[in-house]
Amino acid sequence: MERRLFERLVRKALDTIPEDIAAHMDNVDVVVEDWPTQSQLAVNEIHDGEYLLGLYEGVPLTSRHEYGNVLPDKITIFQRSIEAVCQTNDEVVMEVRNTVVHEIAHHFGIDDDRLDELGV
Ligand SMILES: [Zn+2]
Repeated sequence: MERRLFERLVRKALDTIPEDIAAHMDNVDVVVEDWPTQSQLAVNEIHDGEYLLGLYEGVPLTSRHEYGNVLPDKITIFQRSIEAVCQTNDEVVMEVRNTVVHEIAHHFGIDDDRLDELGV
């Protein structure tokens, strides 16, 4: 899939975030890359044969007690990883949406264990 098209899917996914939640997102960039780097894989304990679809890096809102003068939070969506786990464009659309929601939840301080419980 062309990068331009994929980026449009990411923007669409962001547009589906309810307004009252989106309004509370603060200082966070959302970017698209092809694949995670070796160090991103290592830090997140992703092993051979596993894919990292998205990554949240930053200071969750719940941890911003003395926050200032820092780089924005960064959410990265990995296009080639998502394409690798999907068979069809429809699946890509769904996986982008799931990944965007998952990483935004991290921005709000919700951890992976809790997200597993919620099925997100
Ligand atoms: Zn996660």
